[in-house]
Amino acid sequence: MKTIGLIGGMSWESTLLYYQTLNREVSRRLGGLHSARILMHSLDFEEVVRGQKAGDWVSLTRLLRRAAQGLAGAGADCLLICTNTMHKIADEVAAEGLPPLLHIADVTGQAILGRGLRRVALLGTRYTMEQSFYMDRLARMGVECIVPPQAQRDEVHRIIFEELCLGDFREESRQTLQNIVADTALRGAEGVILGCTELPLILRATDLSLPLFDTTELHAMAAADFALADMPASLSTV
Ligand code: GLU
Repeated sequence: MKTIGLIGGMSWESTLLYYQTLNREVSRRLGGLHSARILMHSLDFEEVVRGQKAGDWVSLTRLLRRAAQGLAGAGADCLLICTNTMHKIADEVAAEGLPPLLHIADVTGQAILGRGLRRVALLGTRYTMEQSFYMDRLARMGVECIVPPQAQRDEVHRIIFEELCLGDFREESRQTLQNIVADTALRGAEGVILGCTELPLILRATDLSLPLFDTTELHAMAAADFALADMPASLSTV
């Protein structure tokens, strides 16, 4: 089994989901008392958010690059940045000589295409919904994203940073998010990307009328596939 390197803590609430999903999947596939081989560098999220607000992506690149190098030095075979937003700098973090970085938008795009869909709503932070790094990558794969209008984007962003990243899960926020998704369905969305790793903490498939693409789960499952790829077939499949 290969070793998975997580750059986490963005926020730690969602990094927990990665840890749980990876261990559950490895246990499910290998049986017995197997669990995932994981190395994690968990950052101080306050520091990350200050950099985001200041638009200081150069310092943030340095911070994540150092984490990636540490994980590589400790023996990680692949790297995951456990947030959609910070994939803004994924190409800069993934330096030559480092283990492969599994890109969250790539695994999400593959899942969407695998379901035969091409137009999906994208919910996430303002950075993810308003900047090009995420949507353009999906567009190159043939997936078109529909984002909510400004006032709704502001509300999704607020819910993420002021509630979900602090472990505060409110029924009224769930309903707000459900309504926003319903609006995007009227605009032609065939599915919805939970393009923020905390969103699955409040929205489940049963809450929505559209097929849901949970980036946290898809990303973690891609890492489990990577880690188990060289295992004997009898062990690495169900
Ligand atoms: N975890 C969130 C995401 O997936 C937001 C936190 C961050 O700004 O990195 O985008």
